[in-house]
Amino acid sequence: MTMPTLEDAQALDRADPLAAFRQRFSLPENVIYLDGNSLGPLPVETPRRVAEAVAKEWGDGLVTSWNDAGWVDAPHRIGDKIARVIGARPGEVVVTDSTSVNLYKLIMAAAPLSPGRTEILTERGNFPSDLYVAEGAARTLGLELRVVDRDDLVGAMSSATALVMLTQVDYRSGYRHDIAAMNRIAAGHDVRIVWDLSHSIGTVPLDLGRDGVELAIGCGYKHLNGGPGAPAFLYVAKALQDKITSPISGWFGHASPFVFDARYQPAPGISRFLAGTPPILSMVALEAGVDLMLEVDQNALFAKSAQLFDLFALLVAARCPELRPVSPDDPATRGGHISFAHDHAYEIIQALIARGVIGDFRTPDVARFGITPLYTRFEDIWRAVDILDDIMARKIWQEPQYAVRRVVT
Ligand SMILES: *Cc1c(COP(=O)(O)O)cnc(C)c1O
Repeated sequence: MTMPTLEDAQALDRADPLAAFRQRFSLPENVIYLDGNSLGPLPVETPRRVAEAVAKEWGDGLVTSWNDAGWVDAPHRIGDKIARVIGARPGEVVVTDSTSVNLYKLIMAAAPLSPGRTEILTERGNFPSDLYVAEGAARTLGLELRVVDRDDLVGAMSSATALVMLTQVDYRSGYRHDIAAMNRIAAGHDVRIVWDLSHSIGTVPLDLGRDGVELAIGCGYKHLNGGPGAPAFLYVAKALQDKITSPISGWFGHASPFVFDARYQPAPGISRFLAGTPPILSMVALEAGVDLMLEVDQNALFAKSAQLFDLFALLVAARCPELRPVSPDDPATRGGHISFAHDHAYEIIQALIARGVIGDFRTPDVARFGITPLYTRFEDIWRAVDILDDIMARKIWQEPQYAVRRVVT
């Protein structure tokens, strides 16, 4: 195959049916942003909506905005919009709390459905916060947390497994689990899986209803572009909702919070997974991101992601072969980022950031690049690899300032 040129990349951009979405984001000049899987960029629409919520709804409406500006419905309204993105039904998703807290809630709620079983099962490469939360929840439940390599997951499911907890798209490599297949295997052991969709939503097509998903959570500030620390979402399939309860029995999950009853009575349906007062300004920002995502065909999104990936992989293999590919070749088993291993991945990423190409480093040796199709152009990929090639060829990453470790990588 001949090496794609900058002109070839620009031709792909001209043919791209999603090209117009880039203008919907407020991206700085001279930056190639390949980190939307860590923090999605600012949609153009968001500042206006947040400013209006502050000035009109909070400033003028004051407490009446809980009823009149739709604040009290926001967790459900935005949840129902997210449901449309992930193939869930209305009333199956709420927006609330953080991903970590929602994971805790679902593990604590669902593990008791399997009495007499002794283990929560997960994989070693799972996102560390998920491992920590599962460890804490298992301790509280008096269960063992069993952590195995991905290849051993299926063999490790047994009649001792109370619950399985998996992240669909691996935050390092981008490996993507086949949700339907894993759910089928788990069901064979009469076990449920809690799915973390943080790196899936807004990048790979999801159909939770079709794929038999019963419990899931996911992040609002990555591919949903909801802003730093945006609230997360929580999904429970209809059939399960009234069989389980949240371990955080707060008033927003009460059947009638404003009766101020002294006793907790869980609300019917998904509402019982709410805990406290929703962060309205953050919800408004998230809703702008979700509304934008609703305009996009998820299959078209992934098709472009796969094309961006292939261009990136091809260019790096030809121009920077010292970077070892770690993401799957097969689009059916990968998500929306591409990663490479190198002993000096940290320094390489710092040198790239200094040149305006923002990716990130994941310990121990991974350089990770989000290839978010809503605003990433083929031209951006070409230019990013061109800069990477220069940094590698001239060993620019060896300059001492790039070895200084920052708090957030
Ligand atoms: C981003 C991410 C989270 C984030 O959790 P927070 O509670 O928002 O900090 C959790 N799990 C996975 C798999 C993630 O990718």
